[in-house]
Amino acid sequence: MQSFENALLGRMQGLLGVPDKLVALHEPEFGAEEHALVKDTLDSTFVSSVGKYVDQFESELALFTGARYAVAVANGTAALQVALKLAGVQAGDEVLLPSLTFVASANAVTHAGAVPHFVDSEVCTLGVDALALGEHLASVAELTSQGLRNKATGRRIAAMVPMHAYGHPVDLAGLMDVAGRYGIPIVEDAAESLGSYYQGRHTGTFGKLGTLSFNGNKIITTGGGGAIITDDAEVARHAKHLTTTAKVAHRWEFFHDEVAWNFRLPNLNAALGVAQLHRLPQFLEEKRRLAAAYERVLAGLDGVAFAHEPEGTRSNYWLATMRLLTPDLAQRDRLLATLNDAKFQSRPTWTLLHKLPMYAACPRASLQVAEALEASLINLPSSPKLARTL
Ligand SMILES: *Cc1c(COP(=O)(O)O)cnc(C)c1O
Repeated sequence: MQSFENALLGRMQGLLGVPDKLVALHEPEFGAEEHALVKDTLDSTFVSSVGKYVDQFESELALFTGARYAVAVANGTAALQVALKLAGVQAGDEVLLPSLTFVASANAVTHAGAVPHFVDSEVCTLGVDALALGEHLASVAELTSQGLRNKATGRRIAAMVPMHAYGHPVDLAGLMDVAGRYGIPIVEDAAESLGSYYQGRHTGTFGKLGTLSFNGNKIITTGGGGAIITDDAEVARHAKHLTTTAKVAHRWEFFHDEVAWNFRLPNLNAALGVAQLHRLPQFLEEKRRLAAAYERVLAGLDGVAFAHEPEGTRSNYWLATMRLLTPDLAQRDRLLATLNDAKFQSRPTWTLLHKLPMYAACPRASLQVAEALEASLINLPSSPKLARTL
């Protein structure tokens, strides 16, 4: 009898062929415009944090996402760290976030001086479960005149950071309802969801602030980079100021009016970003076509499901994701070994953050669903170019 692993492998080979070299999980792609704009930046000598491509990248990002303002920064982690500060998070506060996310989400919370408070995810969105979050807060927190307080730790719960996992939008309506009831701001970690929409509106534009990443593995890349998006003019101004050493503009004087960061995105990287942004519509169409093909070939295989975009959303399908219907770490790892041995680079989801040594003692809700997802999710090769071979 054919093993489950071989059955899956057969379907992958049927779809993508039998590879003779590694089929990457996700590969960036550059064309003539990337080369031209990077060369133009070099020729101009404006390679650092001042230059026309930073401004152009910011205005095109705002246009694409529908956010009023976009502030380009050094990377997605820095974007989140600054966004948390601008959302009012202070040293000693707690911030709610999923345990099922990339470690950067929790690192940003920590660098903002706060303590991660992990909450559970749901199967249909792979993101924070709003219902479970509401129930958790009803039991562990109380509303006081100083805001929401964790009864067990005595700390203020200052914000929530939902994350749109692999591009699939979270249940924003549910989360906004919980956030509204408890009076806490939402900062959306939209690092993975550029080009994803919830009820027709771009992810990252529902919270007080949203953050994006343009790391090398994301849907578009600037080498390294990120952005803060917001509709609030004052928040945008402050984001720019805080990421630019809080220097007060003057023709020659160095005067800085608060402790700040050098988190600017260099013009060289922004030039790459402008060109990549122009290719984004094509990448989105190709990822969608690839996802549909995966969904089709996996449909006939017992025991697995393809992670389809949640109802009412349009996902960028950044990383194609399959899920074992019965969570089983050993089975997951056998599949990973089979796929990777056959040169289909595949990865499990992140080790849950509350299991990492530095976050093991953080406050947390029941994380039952996240635990099940950890034992059942596998990301499949997702480069846009794969759609061109179908
Ligand atoms: C990539 C990513 C980040 C961080 O972005 P960097 O640009 O790598 O700092 C944050 N959160 C999530 C969920 C990510 O996937």
